[in-house]
Amino acid sequence: MDFNDTPEQAAFRAEVRTWLAANAEAKTGSKRSLNRRIDSDRGLEMAKQWQQKKADAGYACMHFPKEYGGQGAPIIHTVIYEQEEAKYDVPTGFFSIGLGMCAPTMMAYASEEQKQRHVPPMVRGEEVWCQLFSEPGAGSDLAGLRTRAERDGDEWVVNGQKVWTSGAHYSDYGILVTRHDPTLPKHKGLTYFFLDMRSPGVEVRPIKQISGASDFNEVYFTNVRIPDSQRLGEVGAGWQVSLTTLMNERLAVGGAPPPDAADLLALARGVELEGRPALEDPATRARIAEWYVEAAGLTHIRSRSMTALARGETPGPESSIAKVVSAPKLQEVSSYGADLLDMAGILTDPQQTLSDALFQSGYLYAPGLRIAGGTDEILRNIIAERVLGLPGDIRVDRDKPFNEIPSGS
Ligand SMILES: Cc1cc2nc3c(=O)[nH]c(=O)nc-3n(C[C@H](O)[C@H](O)[C@H](O)COP(=O)(O)OP(=O)(O)OC[C@H]3O[C@@H](n4cnc5c(N)ncnc54)[C@H](O)[C@@H]3O)c2cc1C
Repeated sequence: MDFNDTPEQAAFRAEVRTWLAANAEAKTGSKRSLNRRIDSDRGLEMAKQWQQKKADAGYACMHFPKEYGGQGAPIIHTVIYEQEEAKYDVPTGFFSIGLGMCAPTMMAYASEEQKQRHVPPMVRGEEVWCQLFSEPGAGSDLAGLRTRAERDGDEWVVNGQKVWTSGAHYSDYGILVTRHDPTLPKHKGLTYFFLDMRSPGVEVRPIKQISGASDFNEVYFTNVRIPDSQRLGEVGAGWQVSLTTLMNERLAVGGAPPPDAADLLALARGVELEGRPALEDPATRARIAEWYVEAAGLTHIRSRSMTALARGETPGPESSIAKVVSAPKLQEVSSYGADLLDMAGILTDPQQTLSDALFQSGYLYAPGLRIAGGTDEILRNIIAERVLGLPGDIRVDRDKPFNEIPSGS
């Protein structure tokens, strides 16, 4: 494992640092992050401007081929850029599904004309994409999905419901997995499309979350017509195409937002516990040390992924390991911090409490992080099967025709 940049990577990192310092505002401990100060409408507008600026400077999706808006650079350049950008207070998040999952799937399966039409606008932040995979009865077991696509000449007619679709309410396009043939076993009867989110018959209903925000949605399809030319992969190859998307999702997921041990350390210096600074409390000190050690372990796991990427290899299951540690840690650190804030721990308005409600917002966000992109249990299954070589989950319905699998309905 390499812990340090090669001379070439170090030079690139220095160049990125110079550009970011000239074009963005560094994050500071005391100031609330832009991502937490702005509502989603204003945030989207600002994120589009920032993405455009990055694209103009040649820093957006550097590893994409030049003909699709990238620079044809090694993927490690994108990783280095993102590491450096994370130190700056810039609006992020709106393009991660599009650029992290939809664009790679389009580049692998769309026609040349469609790639030229759709990928560069994603890179420049002009068009936002979402991922229409999960359904009320299909999340971890994605191949259990029921949204129907029936062929009608050169078009497909889609009916059904998706759920948890992040960003559907501001997306221009989406990638969609459907069931075209329920008489085939569940993985074999799937077909994959992309569609215009403003197509007649698409209804997006935002879901109100515990935090008060609405980041994801229910999406209903009623006789939505999708041209066959927007099918990605062969009829019946929807599962294989989905694996391309999900493999890219695994690469994208892995980190967790703050608060971390360092934020807790800062808080423990500033609040009192039983009449003395919380930092003098042995139990608090022990917890902070524990989370600091976990954070150091995560840094080294990410170094392994970085090493693999730098060598042109595909990272292994490190991102599953990183997520299964970092998401529960976010929940625990946030919970401890909110407890240290005593009565103020229930306040979520950043104006009214210490630390800009960082611990409270982390506490409300963490449960979602433990589910999105693979739940804790599913990630443990992956680690058990692919890292430890333990026997796989028992899958009794794998080869049965989908419409013969008992559904309980
Ligand atoms: C914040 C957020 C954003 C999301 N964004 C999107 C999006 O943009 N697009 C999209 O398509 N989806 C999205 N999702 C959906 C996400 O992919 C699913 O929620 C996730 O895959 C889990 O599926 P589920 O909710 O149906 O839970 P289920 O799969 O029903 O799981 C329920 C429980 O059973 C456990 N379980 C299930 N199977 C097993 C097993 N084999 N072994 C052991 N335990 C098991 C799970 O761990 C969980 O605890 C998002 C989810 C969240 C939380």
